[in-house]
Amino acid sequence: MDTLIGKTYAITGGNSGIGFATAQQLVRRGARVAILGRDEQTLAATQRDLGTAVLVQRGDVTRPDELRQFFSATAHQFGRLDGLFVNAGMAAFAPIDAVTAEHITSLLAVNFNGAYYTIQQALPLLRSGAAIVLNSSMYTALGMPGSSIYTASKAALESLARTLSAELVERGIRVNAIGPGNIQTPLYSRLGMTAGELEAAATAEAALIPLRRFGYADEAARAVVFLLSPDSSYVLGETLVVDGGRSRL
Ligand code: NAP
Repeated sequence: MDTLIGKTYAITGGNSGIGFATAQQLVRRGARVAILGRDEQTLAATQRDLGTAVLVQRGDVTRPDELRQFFSATAHQFGRLDGLFVNAGMAAFAPIDAVTAEHITSLLAVNFNGAYYTIQQALPLLRSGAAIVLNSSMYTALGMPGSSIYTASKAALESLARTLSAELVERGIRVNAIGPGNIQTPLYSRLGMTAGELEAAATAEAALIPLRRFGYADEAARAVVFLLSPDSSYVLGETLVVDGGRSRL
């Protein structure tokens, strides 16, 4: 593995779950990381945990003006970037008869529009040789009932990994995605389910996973760090699935 000493990265949603685990691993390998998120408490905890190697800023990926401020602060502190992890996202599930305009708009606003604006705003900072990683989902390979809008928002990111790889290859920028399966993160506590409902759903899901367990955020983060680093220099337009075999076996 190449060292990441002196390298600089930006992560949206780097204050929680997979994004935080990725920031931790990048910092451990010597990189500096700019992190955008919304929640003051986890942003402050991230700053405390990772120290001066990180720049932490509050902002919403659905707000291009806030993204602009974030990347302006990043440029001021770090200069150019070696990579961008487009990770901020939300999950919500509903069968087609229950899907509302608000369900569609809110999911696409964060998961697709927010991801797109993030890449647009980061692009001037990405140096030749940089990598972009998008956070998709294994659900794009499954026909999971109730996930139509969430999965469509994620499938669009895998499409971006290919189209933007083609568009940015001449600038020396690679674009890839990861497809996490069920990864233990705070995402599940944001679904509006009771503790009992969550536990029952988790037990049922785990039974479908060949490894019989949810993944750890660190396990997804290792795949992200591979795609962000020069270790994956010959990988473009790919989605690396990290799902304990759920969508593949
Ligand atoms: P998480 O712990 O809930 O993290 C989500 C992150 O996204 C948080 O840092 C959150 O920041 C940030 N975020 C959400 N909306 C945002 C917005 N509008 N503006 C800025 N930041 C925003 O969950 P996670 O599992 O690590 O999720 C990370 C990504 O992995 C998501 O894109 C998710 O869809 C994807 N994923 C997760 C799983 C899984 O099983 N966990 C599976 C497949 C894909 P705040 O907390 O500050 O709001």
